[in-house]
Amino acid sequence: MCPTPDETNANGKEEMVAIDTQQPSLPPPQQTQPNGKAENGHSHPPAVKSHKGVYGRASDFLSNTSNWKIIESTLREGEQFANAFFTLETKMKIARALDDFGVEYIELTSPAASPESRAHCEAICKMGLKRTKILTHIRCHMDDARIAVETGVDGVDVVIGTSSFLREHSHGKDMTWITKTAIEVIEFVKSKGIEIRFSSEDSFRSELVDLLSIYRTVDKIGVNRVGVADTVGCADPRQVYDLVRTLRGVVSCDIETHFHNDTGCAIANAYAALEAGATHIDTSVLGIGERNGITPLGGLIARMMVADPEYVKSKYNLHMLREIENIVAEAVEISVPFNNYITGFCAFTHKAGIHAKAILANPSTYEILNPADFGMTRYVSIGHRLTGWNAVKSRVEQLNLQMTDEQVKDATAKIKELADVRTQSMDSVDMILRIYHNAVQSGDLQVGQSAKLDSLLEKHMPSRDVSPTRDGANGTPAKKQKTAA
Ligand SMILES: [Zn+2]
Repeated sequence: MCPTPDETNANGKEEMVAIDTQQPSLPPPQQTQPNGKAENGHSHPPAVKSHKGVYGRASDFLSNTSNWKIIESTLREGEQFANAFFTLETKMKIARALDDFGVEYIELTSPAASPESRAHCEAICKMGLKRTKILTHIRCHMDDARIAVETGVDGVDVVIGTSSFLREHSHGKDMTWITKTAIEVIEFVKSKGIEIRFSSEDSFRSELVDLLSIYRTVDKIGVNRVGVADTVGCADPRQVYDLVRTLRGVVSCDIETHFHNDTGCAIANAYAALEAGATHIDTSVLGIGERNGITPLGGLIARMMVADPEYVKSKYNLHMLREIENIVAEAVEISVPFNNYITGFCAFTHKAGIHAKAILANPSTYEILNPADFGMTRYVSIGHRLTGWNAVKSRVEQLNLQMTDEQVKDATAKIKELADVRTQSMDSVDMILRIYHNAVQSGDLQVGQSAKLDSLLEKHMPSRDVSPTRDGANGTPAKKQKTAA
């Protein structure tokens, strides 16, 4: 139902050149194929200068952008996504994939939510995951805590609303009650020898003095982490930085953060939190969750790769990202968005001629992430009106055709002329180049003989999509020819 990026690319590849430096040999010409020249001996960029470099800020001693952990909440927050209904089999498949990827924690729906949720939680705890610890997320209530600790989880995430909105309209408890109950639940969970996190809910609309007071209290009685949650997605990176930095000065335990994406700040807020000294970031695959979700796993990885690529690569099996996203996308019946971080079908596609030329010379010119780090492939799109002769030359070399630069430029002019009427498929581009090459080699064609080339194309590509009609002039081919070899 949901195309993998490969399948998506398969649709688009007809007009693109795939450039993958990992494979040295050339597959058949009409397929996407590697180009050993792409990197041209250049290594991919070392992201950006360290944040502790010459432009570093005085407060960067707080930063944890090279020391953080993921709490992957697809099986808790993600279960609150509108389309989500995970069977145990699906949950186990996702849990296994996240373990293989290497996230430090997964978080499961409260076993108190339903008998089925409890059974799922117990089953996943028995899977014997290699690396990933299992948490469950409960209300700050002894009844929930008693059920949670019996499931076999490695830790319990406790949450309670602390904003005046939630205190008045949700649970109706005051801060005194919240503090008293929190202490009771925390001490009970700790007595079972498993991890405990205490989080406020709607932290950014809570009174700062209330927040700091309860965080200080739970820190003193020994929680592993306190949690800050932007439950409504209202916070911006500066607010996040300020709150987390303040909290960092108040507690000695770890700080977990949870950001909703209602206003598009979920990744930036996660990054700001790490800069301010947070230690754990909640994510979900593709960002699925309540409303429009939370910090997406892939988006966080993309952001952190720029900050410290070696650290990220040392922790996670990045080639699995696409597979995990496909598993989840299929489970919740959505497509991976075209503009998804890293795995979106055009995330590494270069189209404009000037970009293509620079990318072919050195990918770092227009890429901050290296697709090879994620098992992805770079594409240079060439069958369109914005194409340039450098990109076409790259294709000529892939096809092993002997053409001078003048000839490549001449053939490019014809491709652009045809693409001005209708975007050309990769098959058509290849055919044009082969016909051009053969005609030049046999002496039938010389540079600049545009009309002659037209007649050769007419002769050799009778079903070609080069007809000078305007039926596809809006960019959508009216009828795709399928017969080109
Ligand atoms: Zn949430």
